[in-house]
Amino acid sequence: MTSGIAKKENKIQAGFTLWFTGLSGAGKSTISNILEKKIKDLGLKIEILDGDIVRTHLSKGLGFSKEDRDTNIRRIGYVASLLSRNGVISITAAISPYKDIRNEVREMHENFVEVYAKCPLEIVEKRDVKGLYKKARAGEIPQFTGVSDPYEEPENPEITVETNKETPEESANKILNWLKENNFIEG
Ligand code: ADP
Repeated sequence: MTSGIAKKENKIQAGFTLWFTGLSGAGKSTISNILEKKIKDLGLKIEILDGDIVRTHLSKGLGFSKEDRDTNIRRIGYVASLLSRNGVISITAAISPYKDIRNEVREMHENFVEVYAKCPLEIVEKRDVKGLYKKARAGEIPQFTGVSDPYEEPENPEITVETNKETPEESANKILNWLKENNFIEG
């Protein structure tokens, strides 16, 4: 069966990296998991590199200083670039708060799609999916993105999903449609 990926001329099976960025609780993992199913259903190879999971394997022992965060993101970027250049769609779901490192990992890639999971702080804080904002406000987690550490919004992401205005399914479909319209995936 032929692949549905047709980004580059004469090269079916060109992979790409879908790079999520956004605050904790913005919806990166939720949307990634929906996309994974939809993309698998198209018969394509896909791998998710979820920030929380990566930190228990590839980046075990790293903390949340700027230096450690940058190392974590560089490692994720490196693995994603290896996968995507071998025809796999890699989805990364890490906060990746710093613009310079996001741009650095973009440079490692031939096909890179940045997705901004946009959601106001007060909403993600209200969701508090993992109870982390409460702990961060109580001073129990230092350097927590959005509370006591910066989040630098992307300036020109290929796709923005506004997760306070869309359902997870709508956000996933918006991304899938963009990928089809821009020939990353055959429609
Ligand atoms: P992150 O991976 O960015 O830390 P999660 O995916 O773990 O965030 O959590 C996001 C939460 O927000 C989930 O509880 C999810 O159900 C909810 N949510 C509401 N609307 C959306 C949306 N449009 N996209 C993604 N998540 C949403």
